[in-house]
Amino acid sequence: MERYVKELYEKAIKLWTPEFQIMMLNEEMAELTIAINKMMRLKSNDTVVIDSKLRKIITEIADVKILLEQMQVLFKIKSTDLEEEYFNKLRKMEGMINADLKTQAKS
Ligand SMILES: [Mg+2]
Repeated sequence: MERYVKELYEKAIKLWTPEFQIMMLNEEMAELTIAINKMMRLKSNDTVVIDSKLRKIITEIADVKILLEQMQVLFKIKSTDLEEEYFNKLRKMEGMINADLKTQAKS
């Protein structure tokens, strides 16, 4: 994480309190859930509507990402620890995909 961004997050946490930022994370995650559900609900191929829904999803992903990064700063989580876990999860997912593909190929 860039120093400038980390310092910005530290200022936000100090100014608005950790409790408030945690509440904001919950709120933004809920907004992302709603944005994704609204996209899934579309039945038409109205590209204008799809474009606006997609834009909303992008906005909400950015909001959640910013708050998740603040949680990393708040809980003093090292980027190397986070990356290690991230790649562990990716490898686990790869294993699950390969196992499912094998099962599918047999049936
Ligand atoms: Mg939002």
